[in-house]
Amino acid sequence: MENLKIYLINVGQGCSSLVLFPNGTTLLIDCCLNYEEETGYFPFLEDTIKDTFDEETETLSKRIDYLIITHPDQDHIKGIGKLLQHFDIIELCDNGYRYDNDTEDYEDYLEIVQNYEANGKYHILRANKELFKEGEFGEARVNILSPVRKDDEDINEDSVVVKIDYAGNSIMFPGDSGVVIWKDKILPIYKGLLETTVLLASHHGSRSFFIDTSIEDYTIEDFYTDHLKVIAPKFVFISVGKDNPHGLPDSDAVKVYRAHCPKDATARVVPSLVCNSWFSGTCEVTFSKNRYWEVHPIKIKSDSSNKDIKLQLKCRRKRQGGTVTYETSGADFTKKDYLDFEAQLCGDWGNREKISYEWMVQNNGILEDRYHKEIYAKSKLEESKYADNKWGRSVVYYGRHYMWCKASDEKGNASSDAFIVRVRRQPQKRNYLKGLRSYLKKRGR
Ligand SMILES: [Zn+2]
Repeated sequence: MENLKIYLINVGQGCSSLVLFPNGTTLLIDCCLNYEEETGYFPFLEDTIKDTFDEETETLSKRIDYLIITHPDQDHIKGIGKLLQHFDIIELCDNGYRYDNDTEDYEDYLEIVQNYEANGKYHILRANKELFKEGEFGEARVNILSPVRKDDEDINEDSVVVKIDYAGNSIMFPGDSGVVIWKDKILPIYKGLLETTVLLASHHGSRSFFIDTSIEDYTIEDFYTDHLKVIAPKFVFISVGKDNPHGLPDSDAVKVYRAHCPKDATARVVPSLVCNSWFSGTCEVTFSKNRYWEVHPIKIKSDSSNKDIKLQLKCRRKRQGGTVTYETSGADFTKKDYLDFEAQLCGDWGNREKISYEWMVQNNGILEDRYHKEIYAKSKLEESKYADNKWGRSVVYYGRHYMWCKASDEKGNASSDAFIVRVRRQPQKRNYLKGLRSYLKKRGR
């Protein structure tokens, strides 16, 4: 495998990301098994991490070479005891922070740290401290940019900040670090190293990355964004549960992330390369050896929190000249089509007035649109133009595109199957024949 794969896992409220390096090394950043919410976290890890054969014990195991806990807050260590029962974790690292917490998870955690420490397999990470051996991650590099300070410790501020670089692309995991440490330490020290392709939003999309959250009377203009300008992410992923009790992701923070993502050149769609784990599910990030990167949500199938409710997408195609047809997912479309989508509720939904909808589209370009990859949601402007259960798009790019809708009410939530729109380039017949003729000529026929 020559690609670096990163899975930004949908764990509900919390964080956990799996990194599979091209040389076979496996890294898990944070652990979050939500007991109250069925997210399929362990089955996902079990499916994705390959078996390793241990010659000494002659057994197969699921091996995680490094587990980095950015900080031992509940939503970053949840279920860690169970994680150890399922997986063979070799080295354990964290920011060294300890605090009063009598939850079972934290007690498990302290015991685990003790055991790893006794075997020399526990490490407190600090910026610049060389823990990883040269070549340990093949051609990829794992950089630790924080904790940078020695006194004044704060559990969130002093989260481990990890940046992984591979073949011209990179991903940043800032834990729950906030504006103070970025402004005072990380940005001044690492300015030249911060530019990042993919950013996991700090602190589940909290505004703490931009402003002290105890300040209540503020506007977006008060946000500190010097660090985000330097990081300049092309894609931001927010790991957050539905109906987060702290109101995360913070809507002002999301606006700021969106404003700092690159704009779409055509200006025909409103790009928002900011994706929310609750909506998109687990995303797979690929960095290829030839400097190419892409992000895909993994789940394409419909999904429902309650088996009695379902959601279906209906697509009406308007062609140039006015012909209107209904289409099924996977059909071929052309760049001149206009598509009208309608989400249809099936099954035992409650009061239809109280249902809220979220829409998302993903472009996966090909050929000259090859680098046009983005995920965006229905914009505020479009919300006023379309009814809640409707959305329309012009077909603008070649490639495969996915359209999703998710609906929720007090009975639960359901997302539709992805509606796949394929836009193929017409093969250029004459050039092809010309090429074939000259090829045959060269071969002397
Ligand atoms: Zn957290």
